[in-house]
Amino acid sequence: MQVILAKPRGFCAGVERAIQIVEQALEKFGAPIYVRHEIVHNKYVVDNLRNKGVIFVDEISQIPTGSTTIFSAHGVSQKVEEDAKERGLYSIDATCPLVTKVHKEAQRSEDDGRQIILIGHNGHPEVEGTSGRVKNEVILVESLSDVENITVANENKLAYVTQTTLSVDDTKLIISALKRRFPSIIGPDLKDICYATQNRQNAVRKLAQMADLILVIGASNSSNSNRLRDLAKEIGTTSYLISSPEEIEPDWLKNVNTIGITAGASAPEILIDNSIDYLKSLYNDIKVSTMDGIEENVKFKLPIELC
Ligand code: SF4
Repeated sequence: MQVILAKPRGFCAGVERAIQIVEQALEKFGAPIYVRHEIVHNKYVVDNLRNKGVIFVDEISQIPTGSTTIFSAHGVSQKVEEDAKERGLYSIDATCPLVTKVHKEAQRSEDDGRQIILIGHNGHPEVEGTSGRVKNEVILVESLSDVENITVANENKLAYVTQTTLSVDDTKLIISALKRRFPSIIGPDLKDICYATQNRQNAVRKLAQMADLILVIGASNSSNSNRLRDLAKEIGTTSYLISSPEEIEPDWLKNVNTIGITAGASAPEILIDNSIDYLKSLYNDIKVSTMDGIEENVKFKLPIELC
């Protein structure tokens, strides 16, 4: 049995930075540290930090006055930031700099008098954060059919931004449809949005052509992990999203000679190692290799509070 690991896979620079922020805050300020929302969408990471004294909450109102609070990598709305200030919290922002860039892009366009169209998934924390960074209500577009149904105030004064965990490929049809309907709409250079999302998607497409089965390691609420599973399926390769190796069902491995493994941007490498160990416990002739792929060297600076 061959196991081929995707390259790149797993943690991106934004996730590494967010986890490092929480760990350094624990060291500097001591437990408990409060984190609004899961710092990244991964149970293993969250449980590990919880064991070190992190308390995860959904709302600012659940945090005792004066506590140290961290905003997750997905970003938060202006209102959340203001609520934290009002409550006397000492807050540190772990929003990924690429998400912050989208916030600024939306704000700049709004200041220029444009109505903002946000391409993303309803209910995703990043979408909530970006929507809450502009003064007026954004128009959320999730699909091509939404493009036909939206109503805008002035079709000559529009700008779009996108959720970072959608790749250029995910959004290009929607953007083309927006441009067809509203020829003067403006938007950012998509190549700049998130290198990690695009790289992991390109890698899984290639891997799906080399493997009989793709296992994507990631949380069920992780948007980019779900997309990796869907992309492998679109290539025609059976693919499952698993949060840990215990979820691998022996039936999936029947008639399989090559398993491709990848991981979403919030899944730690240890879950890949554990999956390989599990497969080794089933087969004694496992050969593990890594596909050729992009070497990522992106690093983001820590916030000033921790420097
Ligand atoms: Fe930042 Fe991209 Fe990682 Fe999201 S997936 S945290 S935008 S680097």
